[in-house]
Amino acid sequence: MTVNADSFQALLIEKDDAGYRAQLQALNTDALMAATQSTANPVTIRVSHSTLNYKDGLAITGKSPVVRKFPMVPGIDLAGIVAHSEHPLYAVGDAVVLNGWGVGETHWGGLSQRARLNGDWLVPLPKAFTPAQAMAIGTAGYTAMLCVMALQRQGVTPEHGEILVTGAAGGVGSVAVALLSQLGYKVVAVTGRPEEAAYLQSLGASEVLARADFSSPGKPLAKERWAGAVDTVGSHTLANVCASMKYRGVVTACGLAGGFDLPATVMPFILRGVVLVGIDSVMCPRPDRLEAWERLAKDLDVSKLAAMTQIIGLGQAVDTAKALLEGQVRGRVVVDVNA
Ligand code: NDP
Repeated sequence: MTVNADSFQALLIEKDDAGYRAQLQALNTDALMAATQSTANPVTIRVSHSTLNYKDGLAITGKSPVVRKFPMVPGIDLAGIVAHSEHPLYAVGDAVVLNGWGVGETHWGGLSQRARLNGDWLVPLPKAFTPAQAMAIGTAGYTAMLCVMALQRQGVTPEHGEILVTGAAGGVGSVAVALLSQLGYKVVAVTGRPEEAAYLQSLGASEVLARADFSSPGKPLAKERWAGAVDTVGSHTLANVCASMKYRGVVTACGLAGGFDLPATVMPFILRGVVLVGIDSVMCPRPDRLEAWERLAKDLDVSKLAAMTQIIGLGQAVDTAKALLEGQVRGRVVVDVNA
């Protein structure tokens, strides 16, 4: 196959004797081809938008060893148009979305004007969304949808009671609050930023609780309150959430913003039949991805996306990634890679 040897802008992470650094660089298609040589069923994409998720923040700053190969183009999400395809499902001109599959970790990712990926990893851009809206959702929103689907598969309905969302002003949390309230659940949001209470209420939270109520070591069992939970924080927060679930309540655990440990006891599980469901978006099988995106198209009030999203250019990605890890970013960040 031939692809024009044109030049494009990308964020590139390098690690060598000079240290760990992420910089905007001009790359060319030969470099992209060389870096993605072993890709099966390759599809080349003209990327229009990407995003910044928590994991992108870790990759760009080098705070955790997210990047497994150097040099690496970060970006676990992208939306764009197919420029060349060797995959039977995709033709030139198709609008597509990519989330996860190790892209931005072991395979060059979306914070770039071009990407070359295995077509099996792509999903068609849902007609309900523009590429920018799909990236306002991004991995964070698609993970929030996986959490909602898991709660529903476990039989949690609005009649069962309140749903708790932790790390609520972040990306996963914001979309989870919006989705759950749209579906008729009573949502209680937990945040460390009391100044975001009005924002969380505008997304549909009926009550906003302080992060500090959950983040210290607690009792094995607390007063039963929640029918379901979406936890993006981990550590003591997740342990305290489990301890305060109603009988047979369901907790979906997807994040580690507060730590990857789980200092809990078995008491909620063996005395109250609490269910703890792990959520992984990265290697999630294609049928569940397609269902999640279909459900997002149906169940997410797109008018709420604008309030939870800021749009930046590729040149602002490094500084914004730092702010994201410092918990200073509200909701979602879309990167317009051509801005
Ligand atoms: P964001 O940075 O957008 O949101 C994280 C939120 O967590 C913050 O906004 C803040 O919310 C809260 N928070 C931050 N630091 C702490 C702390 N020390 N203690 C308690 N709460 C804290 O990240 P995302 O929404 O993109 O991701 C959230 C988590 O989910 C991350 O850990 C991420 O790695 C994980 N994730 C996992 C996926 C999976 O496949 N399992 C997919 C996507 C994300 P507030 O200010 O409201 O308290």
